Amino acid sequence: MSEPQSVAARLAGVRERIERATRACNRHPSSVTLIAVSKGHSPESIVEAYRAGQRDFGESYVQELQRKAGALAQLSDIKVHLIGHLQRNKAKLAVQYAHVVHTIDTPQLASELARRQAALGPARLPVLVEVNVGGEAQKHGVTPAGLGNLISAVRGLPELDLRGLMTIPPHSDDPAQARPHFEALRALQQVHGGVQTLPELSMGMSDDLEVAIAAGATLVRVGTAIFGARQPH
Ligand SMILES: *Cc1c(COP(=O)(O)O)cnc(C)c1O
Repeated sequence: MSEPQSVAARLAGVRERIERATRACNRHPSSVTLIAVSKGHSPESIVEAYRAGQRDFGESYVQELQRKAGALAQLSDIKVHLIGHLQRNKAKLAVQYAHVVHTIDTPQLASELARRQAALGPARLPVLVEVNVGGEAQKHGVTPAGLGNLISAVRGLPELDLRGLMTIPPHSDDPAQARPHFEALRALQQVHGGVQTLPELSMGMSDDLEVAIAAGATLVRVGTAIFGARQPH
């Protein structure tokens, strides 16, 4: 087997993919933010990416984030995105350790995050609403039909700053299969106020980021292509 590539080299490769994908659909590369998904990887790997200029990181589990917090404290200008399902009883830790939460899926979770955020001070917490566009029973996220009510609930909470929508399409080995799901999220963005009120679309991962960018992604969440295979949770 060949020598594994460094995190810096993999990161450069992913940035190049983003650049090519944006140019291919007449978008500017700066219209897409790369979130390096570091779940299942050590703080050392995160520092390696940081040294290569990466600042946005994604984690899926609040408790893993809590474990890494000490090691990450020195990286004072990183932005941590919580991209995994969040239980209400973890909301307090979530607002403590994450800068952005992508996975609001019920009004109850939104209220609890708002309550916990208020306790921290006047700053608002940027959030996205997770939509289950594929309609999969085992997936989290609000249904497209329930999205309007959830958006209203989040907008009613001054502690939360609603930034946009997030989705995880059904798993497939063919990246093209994700296209209709990404396009469905963009259509929901249009229905619910457009880019003025929901500027961010969080969609696309290691295998399908090009498809997501073509469909309008502004935040892509990439783990394996940057850090390699991860430890199982
Ligand atoms: C793990 C994870 C990713 C990254 O997936 P890769 O295939 O490793 O790029 C992106 N989004 C979410 C929600 C994840 O849980």
